Amino acid sequence: MMTSMEAVIYARVSQDHGTRSVQEQERECREFCDRQGWNVTRVLTDNDIGASRYSGKDRPAYRELKEILRPGDVLVTWEASRAQRDLAAYVELRNLCADRGVKWAYNGRVFDLSDGDDRFGTGLDALLAEKEAEQIRARVLRGKRSAAAEGRPSGKTPPGYRPVRDPRTGRTVTWEPDEVAPVMQEAARRILEGETLREVTRWANEQGVTGTHRQMRDRLHLASYAGLRVHQGKVVGEANWPALWSPEQRDQIIAAFADPARRASGGGGVPVRHLLAGIARCGVCGAGMRHYWPPSAQKISAPPAYVCSDGLHVRRQAKPLEKAVVRATLARIRTIDRAQLADDGGAAAAAARREAQELQDRLDEFTVAAAEPGGPSPRALAAIEQKLQPQIDAALARARASYRSPLIGRLAENPEDWTVLTVVERREVIRSMVTVRVMPTQSRGVAGFRREDVEIHPA
Ligand SMILES: [Zn+2]
Repeated sequence: MMTSMEAVIYARVSQDHGTRSVQEQERECREFCDRQGWNVTRVLTDNDIGASRYSGKDRPAYRELKEILRPGDVLVTWEASRAQRDLAAYVELRNLCADRGVKWAYNGRVFDLSDGDDRFGTGLDALLAEKEAEQIRARVLRGKRSAAAEGRPSGKTPPGYRPVRDPRTGRTVTWEPDEVAPVMQEAARRILEGETLREVTRWANEQGVTGTHRQMRDRLHLASYAGLRVHQGKVVGEANWPALWSPEQRDQIIAAFADPARRASGGGGVPVRHLLAGIARCGVCGAGMRHYWPPSAQKISAPPAYVCSDGLHVRRQAKPLEKAVVRATLARIRTIDRAQLADDGGAAAAAARREAQELQDRLDEFTVAAAEPGGPSPRALAAIEQKLQPQIDAALARARASYRSPLIGRLAENPEDWTVLTVVERREVIRSMVTVRVMPTQSRGVAGFRREDVEIHPA
C-alpha cells in the first residue's frame, strides 16, 4: 500500500489584506489536499499578523512550521503571499523546503524546490507578492484599510481612486485612494457647506479633476465614494475599498442637491454665510468647525461662535476669529513674490494638468486595448500602470502646487478689493493662503479671545 503524503497547512490572514479568512483558506487547502490524497497532519494559523518585514511582529505559527516540517512532507498554503511577503522570508522557506525535501503547494499547484524551474516560478511569485506587500503597506500607512472579500470593484474607476491589481492575474481586486482623493473630499465638503456646484466644479477642474458640473454632480452622488457597492443600480453592501466619505454624508450631499433653494437658483445654491465654516479646524481632533449661534445664545446676547463639528472640543467667538484670519491672509498675500504672481501660477498649473491628462489618456488607451484580443496582457497592463501612475500623480501634484486663484493677484494689487469679494470668493482666498487651527484656550467663557490660541499657518 502506498503511504500518502503528510501535508501541513499554513494559513494566515492580516487585517490589511482581507481576501480570505483563515477558515476559508484552511477549507480550500483541505479540499486541495483531499483531491491529492494527502493526509493533513497539522494546520498552523497566524491571524492578523503581517508576514512581511514591515509588520515587525512575531509569527509563532510560522516559527513552529519550521520546527515540524519533515522530509516527504508537503507544505500547503492558500497562495504564495500567505506564507511570505518578503523575499528574505521566501529564500528562507525555499531553502528549508529544499533541504528537507519538502514540496510546496499553492494555487492548486505543487512545486518541488529542488527543481530549477519550480524555484524560478515560486521566486517570481514571491517577487510579485512582495510588490503587493509594498502596495498594502502604502495603503495602511495612509490609514486606509481595505474591507472584506466581497465588494470587488467593477466598471470604471471614479476620480479619487486607482485600481489595485492582483500582481499575478492583473485583475482589479480593489481600489485605493489616489492623489486626487482629497480633491473629491474637499469638493463634497464644499457642496455641504453650500458652495455652488459651478464654483465647486471650477475649483475641482483646477485641481485636476476635470469634467462638467453635471459630471461632478453625478460623481458626488456615487455610492462608491461612500464605500458602498452597487449592483444593477442598487446598493448591495459594503465595498472592499476605503470610503472617501460616510454613507450619512452621502445622504446629506444628495439632500443638498435636492434642496429647492439650490434648484431655484439654477444650481446656484445657498450662499455660504459663514466665512470660516469648515475652513477653521478643531485643534484637538482636526474636524472642521461650524458656525454656532442658536436662538438660546441670541436671546442672552451671546456672540456667534465657531465650534468643533465633531466633538465640541473647541469653541471660539466668531468675529475676532474671522478678523484674525483675514488679517493673516491679507498679510500673507503681501509677502507673495510679484514675479511669481505675474504668472498667477496659471500657466505652470495648466501645463502640469495637460501633462497629467495626456498620461492618463495613454493609460486609458492601454486599459481599453487590454480588453481586446491581442492587447497587452493584464500583467503587462499592471506594469504599464505602475510606471505611468506615479508620473500622473506627480504632474497633478505639480498642478496643485502651482495653482493660485486669480483673486490672489487681484488682491496683491488692490488689497481693498477684499471688501467687494463675495463670501465664497473670500473663502477661496483664505483656503489657498492659510490653514487655521483653533487650539483649546485658557481664557474662560466666550468673551475672551486669545490670538495665540489660534494657529494660522501658510497653506
Ligand atoms: Zn474636535
